[in-house]
Amino acid sequence: MRGVVFLGDRELVLQEFPDPTPGPGEVVIEMKASGMCGSDLHTYRAPKGGAAASLGLGGNVTQVIAGHEPCGVVVARGSGVSDRQAQIGQRMMNFHYDGCGVCHHCRQGWSQMCIEGATVYGFTGHGGHAPYMRIPASTLVPLPDELSFVEGAAISCGAGTAYNALRRMGVRGGSTLAIFGQGPVGLAATLFAGAMGARVFAVDIAPERLALARSFGAEQTINSAAEEPIRLLKEWTHGQGVEFALDASGAPEARAAAVRACRAWGTACFVGEGKTVTLDVSQDMLRKQLTLIGSWTFNITGQADCARYVADNRIPLERLFTHRFALDEAEAAYRLFDNQTIGKGVFVF
Ligand SMILES: [Zn+2]
Ligand SMILES: [Zn+2]
Repeated sequence: MRGVVFLGDRELVLQEFPDPTPGPGEVVIEMKASGMCGSDLHTYRAPKGGAAASLGLGGNVTQVIAGHEPCGVVVARGSGVSDRQAQIGQRMMNFHYDGCGVCHHCRQGWSQMCIEGATVYGFTGHGGHAPYMRIPASTLVPLPDELSFVEGAAISCGAGTAYNALRRMGVRGGSTLAIFGQGPVGLAATLFAGAMGARVFAVDIAPERLALARSFGAEQTINSAAEEPIRLLKEWTHGQGVEFALDASGAPEARAAAVRACRAWGTACFVGEGKTVTLDVSQDMLRKQLTLIGSWTFNITGQADCARYVADNRIPLERLFTHRFALDEAEAAYRLFDNQTIGKGVFVF
């Protein structure tokens, strides 16, 4: 089979790999959808040979199949995999991290935080941008019947990250919420928060993405290349600022603006990976009684909860996907995604 491998410096190849066969406790899933996530761009853009260091990950991330939003069907089971874990033909997502299974974090389903170090599928283990993928059965998350494979792909990282950040923040009906960055995570947050009844103010620098945000239920949009987000957010909230601000961009200015746009007793949350930010702690946080949350994706039960939420509340998650590609089109797909003007892209098989 052929899988997408990022070479660094915005180059990728479709490289030949042997078809995987499952070992003990493992399954092979046949891919039906494999999403493109903002964090893929970090590896795609990293200098040749420097991707692992830039991501803070061990191993050589440029020799693995990319894609950490896989969704498909179980086609092979290794020894020791029970019927309750996986049945042939069962529709499955993958929790894209695997750890020791024994440490405190692993036992709580947060294997990305494993004290022994985690395998991250699509970065340090073979991911979903290929027709088949071998994974431990313990990383499978069943896809509810109501959901499509592309929706399962979205939940597997970008949308799941957005959902779990909103839950941690405690966003509820009537809340005012500013979302900085309307890439795949920010757009999913806009969609979910709108469905939860929050008043969403969406910020980005791409008019295309702001138009999507508006169509997903954002009450107002701000193009921060031309407009001043903090001033507008205060204006729309009677001078107070927003109750909640989410940064999905990772940009230092947006992170600082998210904190500063919050009103007294507000909550800001960082989900976008990026560079450092400088804050005036007294002015920006302490005197405002601000709560600041760092939120890194979700745990394995959080992924299942998000899928259940999308199914039960009929969230139109498919609308996130503005582009669908065949795997052969990977080069053009990532070149387009790199412009950061489209919604979410997905490979369909
Ligand atoms: Zn562990
Ligand atoms: Zn991701």
